[in-house]
Amino acid sequence: MTTRREFLEDAAGAIASIAFVGCGLVSATPAQAQARRREVVVNGRRAKVVDVHAHCAVPEAMALMGLKLGPPALPSTLDMVQAQDRIRAMDEQGIDVEALSINPYWYKADRDVARELIRIQNEKLTEACAANPDRFVAFASVALQHPDLAAEQLGEAVKKCGLRGAAIGGSVNGEELSDPKFHPFWAKAEQLGVLVFIHPQGTAELNNTSRLKGNGLLEVVIGYPLETTIALSHLIFEGTLDRFPGLKICAAHGGGYLPSYAARSDQGCVTFPVGCPGPKDGPLKKKPTEYLRQLYFDSLVFTPEALRHLVAEVGSSQIVVGTDYPYPWTKTAVDHILGTTGLPDAERVAMLGGTATKLLGIKA
Ligand SMILES: [Zn+2]
Repeated sequence: MTTRREFLEDAAGAIASIAFVGCGLVSATPAQAQARRREVVVNGRRAKVVDVHAHCAVPEAMALMGLKLGPPALPSTLDMVQAQDRIRAMDEQGIDVEALSINPYWYKADRDVARELIRIQNEKLTEACAANPDRFVAFASVALQHPDLAAEQLGEAVKKCGLRGAAIGGSVNGEELSDPKFHPFWAKAEQLGVLVFIHPQGTAELNNTSRLKGNGLLEVVIGYPLETTIALSHLIFEGTLDRFPGLKICAAHGGGYLPSYAARSDQGCVTFPVGCPGPKDGPLKKKPTEYLRQLYFDSLVFTPEALRHLVAEVGSSQIVVGTDYPYPWTKTAVDHILGTTGLPDAERVAMLGGTATKLLGIKA
């Protein structure tokens, strides 16, 4: 049985590391992809495809936590060879740009370690993007367990390194993202106007029981979308989205279960008002499900019916492509959107990359 630590090592081990340089001091050679590049066309016009859910790892930073990329190895670091593999996979699938992110494994790090680890990671991400500026942008890593430091790191990563937002977990050492202690981070993200990508890491409380053990990889299959569902629900119900109305948040895996059963969120407080004293700042400004239409969601929901339903619940303007590369959940993210019936061409173009291009400041 894979241990949690091994799994995290594996999960973190998804991209490639490159020569170390500081932000803005980049001088790598672009990786040359050899496969024929698929160019996606919608109604006769080239459509740019942007993948917002693509993992990578920086081994030098992991070493500060005593972690290393463990078997089974996935193509994952940011070195030239693995960057080339990544671009080849993007070319085959019709992905023009990937927004790289690193799943947090550093939330237990003290302030000094966290500062150094994040510095190394964000510099490596910056370097990877600069080496292939037409193919990669990146979400910054931040030490969210130290919210003031995370805010500072985000500001620096965006302003000095040109990173496009932040990638965070669905909770931080058992604390919800809606906890007031994280307000400085949310305030900074809102002020900068950058996208925050929330990627779950499982429901730790259940992982410590037998509930998700056994056959089926339930810690991932159920635990991940469950954590996203909990995280988004707290951001809605605790009033975080009212307090920071300009936040741009994108949830992985189609937002977990929340959009699948959204109406229950509206009905709970109607059925049992006693359980809904409201957030500390005052009553919610909207119905809970209405907040879904200001959040963003990746398209990693696998079937045309699931995508149709996601569009119905959140709107096509809120959906962006997510592949989970290098994990082989899908190789047909583009066809998933092209093949779902009932979508106007303009909405397909927006989902494929139009919306992500704007959110991430990518040249159209
Ligand atoms: Zn992922």
